[in-house]
Amino acid sequence: MAKELGLEVAVIDDGKKKSGSRNAAGLLSTSWFSGKFFSKIQPNWWDSKCFDYGVEILTEFAKLRKVGEDVLPFYGENIGKKRFNSKVWILDDLIGFLDSYSNKIDGKVVRLEKIPTGWKLLSTGGEIARSKKVLIAAGVWSNQLLEASGICPIVVDPLPGRAVFIRDKKPITRPLRVLRSPYQHITFRPWINGLMRVGDTVEATELSQSKLDVLTGESDRMFPFAKLEKVIYGFRPVTPKVYVEKAAEGLVVATGGHRIGFGMSPAVAKRVLALLGLGELK
Ligand SMILES: Cc1cc2nc3c(=O)[nH]c(=O)nc-3n(C[C@H](O)[C@H](O)[C@H](O)COP(=O)(O)OP(=O)(O)OC[C@H]3O[C@@H](n4cnc5c(N)ncnc54)[C@H](O)[C@@H]3O)c2cc1C
Repeated sequence: MAKELGLEVAVIDDGKKKSGSRNAAGLLSTSWFSGKFFSKIQPNWWDSKCFDYGVEILTEFAKLRKVGEDVLPFYGENIGKKRFNSKVWILDDLIGFLDSYSNKIDGKVVRLEKIPTGWKLLSTGGEIARSKKVLIAAGVWSNQLLEASGICPIVVDPLPGRAVFIRDKKPITRPLRVLRSPYQHITFRPWINGLMRVGDTVEATELSQSKLDVLTGESDRMFPFAKLEKVIYGFRPVTPKVYVEKAAEGLVVATGGHRIGFGMSPAVAKRVLALLGLGELK
């Protein structure tokens, strides 16, 4: 998006295997952006147009697709009655999209140093890059970098999440959300290479306790002949509110999408560019 403004941009990333974005399900649902949970993390600059903007931009840049989802309750009076929720989008190849960025530098920034022309970014081996403006979007590792650079840290807690990948002869073609209780769901989504990805709500409810056997048990119940292929783990960055703020002259820190950060990213990018004084996107 910054390139759209004619800016020269480089992403420096150390490719942490447990980062939020690399382990996200790549789902986007309208329902996540309203209600009690969202009102807690909603920053004051967010309005309903930000969601529409997110869908528009991700459709353009990341080939996001509106596919809807099947919802199957396993509790209450509608038990076993499948319904369709049209307002769900998926990104077919999330990792492919993250890896598609061309101007990427593989490396770990250990410290930032203020210089007259902007910022110097340093690794253990010395200088990696210089830039007039910098965005720190380091997820749960943001504070390591801020503290090492003598910049005021923020509150960011790691919320562990995980998912399993299964292979079935008849994979689903759109997401299926199985409601196990009012506070717990398990989502199956079609993934690339004929796999299905199974993830859940991670909040420690009485029923969930974040146990892996909850995921594998639900997979066995819904797809008894599927084969378990792999398990992945990632950290969601949790901040009291989604955090996109100026930390110093020419420096912005952004993180804290909790479990819905992916869908917020276009509006976050727009705000980052405005805070850095780099121009207004459409
Ligand atoms: C299992 C799981 C499922 C999820 N599903 C969804 C979903 O379906 N939809 C949705 O919207 N959200 C989802 N999320 C949430 C979403 O992934 C996060 O909210 C979002 O990715 C957070 O983005 P971030 O940029 O703040 O942090 P991250 O994605 O963690 O990015 C931080 C990046 O900074 C790099 N880094 C850190 N320190 C350094 C350093 N010193 N030098 C260089 N690089 C560094 C890391 O390698 C990483 O690439 C999910 C998260 C998890 C864990």
